[in-house]
Amino acid sequence: MTQRTALVTGGTGGIGTAIIRYLAGQGHRVASNYRDEAKAEQWRKAMAAEGIEVCMVPGDVSDPVSCETMIKAIEEKCGPVEILVNNAGITRDTTFHKMNYQQWTDVINTNLNACFNVTRPVIEGMRARKWGRIVQISSINGQKGQYGQANYAAAKAGMHGFTISLAQENAKFGITVNTVSPGYVGTDMVMAVPEEVREKIVAQIPVGRLGKPEEIAHAVAFFTGDMASWITGANLAINGGHYMGW
Ligand code: NDP
Repeated sequence: MTQRTALVTGGTGGIGTAIIRYLAGQGHRVASNYRDEAKAEQWRKAMAAEGIEVCMVPGDVSDPVSCETMIKAIEEKCGPVEILVNNAGITRDTTFHKMNYQQWTDVINTNLNACFNVTRPVIEGMRARKWGRIVQISSINGQKGQYGQANYAAAKAGMHGFTISLAQENAKFGITVNTVSPGYVGTDMVMAVPEEVREKIVAQIPVGRLGKPEEIAHAVAFFTGDMASWITGANLAINGGHYMGW
């Protein structure tokens, strides 16, 4: 495996941490953004204790100006971004008839507009170098919709439209662009859902349990690896059989 520089947005979160571990395990230089310096420093030290040095740079993925500064800082510190995982995300759940504009725009900005904000400053470099790997972490709920998540489902479905367009535009530049659509994974995001709701969700999963962050990270490592060079514009659903559509 050729050593690359990999940026995982939201690397400090549940799925992001697992992705960082996998990519570092493959020998890549790994980078993540952060928003809260104290929290990030604690996380960085924990990763260092595992032997993983993460290049940490401040950055808010919902803000295009912040992202330009963030990418510049990462590229100065650890080289051009060759692997990008658009992973940072949030939920602001409520039924649409009660949803306010802030809840709508926060989720669209952090999940979908972030794909523009972070990918735009790296794509020209990837095209010039004729190599790149871009993976969006979407969601099962972008595929099937979800009660109380019109904002999130719209953003996550949009990420796949972004993926398949970017894949077409950049295939001849050695850049692959793919989506991973996780089902319910036992991170803070899902553990924040009330227990009785979680039990109902698990009851709908044929495999009979929540996913593990490593099970998502493994797929990202596959898409970003040398052997996946002929896979682009794909969506890989990893959800314990919860949804078996595209
Ligand atoms: P976590 O809440 O554990 O982590 C989210 C990460 O995103 C954190 O590092 C957080 O940083 C970062 N983040 C959030 N907003 C911003 C922002 N504006 N700018 C920069 N960073 C930001 O979530 P998961 O690990 O569970 O989720 C990761 C991805 O997987 C998300 O896109 C999510 O939608 C998707 N997903 C998750 C599923 C699940 O079941 N867990 C299922 C399907 C998809 P900070 O600490 O600063 O908040």
